[in-house]
Amino acid sequence: SFEEVADKPEDLEERAPIVTVMGHVDHGKTSLLDHIRQENVIAGESGGITQHIGAYGVQLEGGQKIAFLDTPGHEAFTAMRARGAQVTDIAIIVIAADDAIMPQTKEAISHAQAAGVPIVFAINKIDKPGANPDKVKEGLAQMNLLVEDWGGKIQSHDISAKTGVGVKELLEKVLLEAELLELKANPNKRATGTVVEAFLDKGRGYVSTILVQAGTLKIGDYVLAGKNSGKVKAMQDERGNEVKEAGPSTPVSILGLDGAPQAGDKFNVFEDEREAKQIATKRTQLQREQSVRTQRH
Ligand code: GDP
Repeated sequence: SFEEVADKPEDLEERAPIVTVMGHVDHGKTSLLDHIRQENVIAGESGGITQHIGAYGVQLEGGQKIAFLDTPGHEAFTAMRARGAQVTDIAIIVIAADDAIMPQTKEAISHAQAAGVPIVFAINKIDKPGANPDKVKEGLAQMNLLVEDWGGKIQSHDISAKTGVGVKELLEKVLLEAELLELKANPNKRATGTVVEAFLDKGRGYVSTILVQAGTLKIGDYVLAGKNSGKVKAMQDERGNEVKEAGPSTPVSILGLDGAPQAGDKFNVFEDEREAKQIATKRTQLQREQSVRTQRH
């Protein structure tokens, strides 16, 4: 059934942080996400992640993991929040060091603050001759955001998403922030989490990228996600590898749902397929009734 039983403290295990990258257009969000995806930050693995599935996990040399939502910009962040999804643990806010603090940067900061999500600033493009990271930090200080260099508590790191300078150190700071949050989840129960994106693939049917937030998702599980349901037929990680199960803070694409749920939809696992299907049908009906009502008014 649907009600969640509270976890006992002894059932909780450490989990990886889930990170969103935000910032003003052209300040380098995509470049940073691409760099992290392509670089060999994965311990002992060569080559980058080839698939674009809306989220990916990396493992640092020390073995620590970070899950990234690969949908840059706060539109995705706010769309998810609007659907009640709290997915992000930490926000990396990218600011170009050759530019001012722009409106979208300010928006991203207030979105993160409103969600109670800690910020790590990535002062980007320091390879550029016109870069002036100190000017950016001064601008932040004027907004009452004191970064560590300026005697404050907010983490920031100077980087170049283009050359890769500082990216590793930035991620280490993200991990430090994560440590303070003491992120935990119970892996030993039925999975719950959030849909990141979904689409119809010509050959494979509906492919949904989901982020497991608690419990462990397994092949054969009956999933309800928004108005869609189905039995998990196959799962793949961001490298296209088949996986049999996915624990907390793991992004995975699944096959087997009867449609494409929306980004921000929650997913749950049910003991039997019928129950999942009934709720999915009820949700579709409710939505239909609602749209009829709004059309009448
Ligand atoms: P987004 O709109 O925030 O996703 O920004 P992009 O990642 O698309 O970057 C915008 C432009 O800035 C692109 O032309 C990038 O190649 C460039 N860019 C991003 N990061 C850097 C950097 O660290 N150094 C330099 N020189 N250019 C960068």
